[in-house]
Amino acid sequence: MEHGFTGSPHDFGRHEPLPLGHLPATRYPDTRVEALDRRFTARQGNAAIERIATGFRWAEGPVYFPAGRYLLWSDIPNNRILRWLEDDGHVSVFRAPSNYTNGNTRDRQGRLLSCEHDARRVTRTEFDGRITVLIDRYDGKRLNAPNDIVVASDDSIWFTDPGYGIDGPYEGHTAESEVGRHVYRLDPASGQATIVADDFVRPNGLAFSPDEKLLYIVDSGATHGGPAHIRVFDVDGGKLRNGRVFAEDFAPGFTDGMRVDSEGNVWCSMGWADPAEDGVRCYAPDGDLIGKIHLPETCANLCFGGAKKHRLFMAGSTSVYSVFLNTTGAV
Ligand code: MG
Repeated sequence: MEHGFTGSPHDFGRHEPLPLGHLPATRYPDTRVEALDRRFTARQGNAAIERIATGFRWAEGPVYFPAGRYLLWSDIPNNRILRWLEDDGHVSVFRAPSNYTNGNTRDRQGRLLSCEHDARRVTRTEFDGRITVLIDRYDGKRLNAPNDIVVASDDSIWFTDPGYGIDGPYEGHTAESEVGRHVYRLDPASGQATIVADDFVRPNGLAFSPDEKLLYIVDSGATHGGPAHIRVFDVDGGKLRNGRVFAEDFAPGFTDGMRVDSEGNVWCSMGWADPAEDGVRCYAPDGDLIGKIHLPETCANLCFGGAKKHRLFMAGSTSVYSVFLNTTGAV
């Protein structure tokens, strides 16, 4: 298989890999990209969903680097970060061990920021390859297991710490929680952390609106008897105010990761319940569900990429999928 990821000594998966390329019975327009409202104009009629890589145990944290034209993502249980090259589809191991890294993002200078479950910290990979620890403790206590991360245009770093990585050995290791399951902001000048939200059951994916006046944050507490919803907050300097529920029609499934497009639509992952709902959802800024992308696997997270930011990459369980859209990522 030309672009396959099979037989590599780094391929710890032992199942039969899924076929790469367009999904079965693809015909334009791809009916797996579904408009529910006339405001959903993102579907590109002459494009289809592709599986671009497979053979992972649990794909998460996709991030695209335009300067190098590659996508990175985490394969959490296999303790590695993978890299896909846009020019020829080659997939290889970027980092192993990765300390069971989950969420990744790019900062405004183009550096990789990562949430490491096992080391219970947030790191930055410098241009020379050194790894800088941005935070591993709050008030002297260890973080739980940072999950997802986003950077504002003022270089402040916002991340969630729900602790899935210390719940058991699959995504990190079993450990006691020393701090609450909070959302944090790292100040760009001092590097100091402040808690910006402390009333989540399991804070997870997060994304700013294009003007950065709003911050959307997923609560995936449904995994532990809590809610399955997205909340939105007004961003007031370094603080969050006026939190309210933005979307809550996920049960019995839930959402995990999220990105916002340049028109302010919220794109979030979906899965863990009805297979017909697996994939991605698109919500208008007013909270209306306007579109869906149907994938053959549960989707954990997504990002926009490509030189023009109009290609959506989706981390879907054992595979990574992509589709070109008529919209662009906000960042
Ligand atoms: Mg997550």
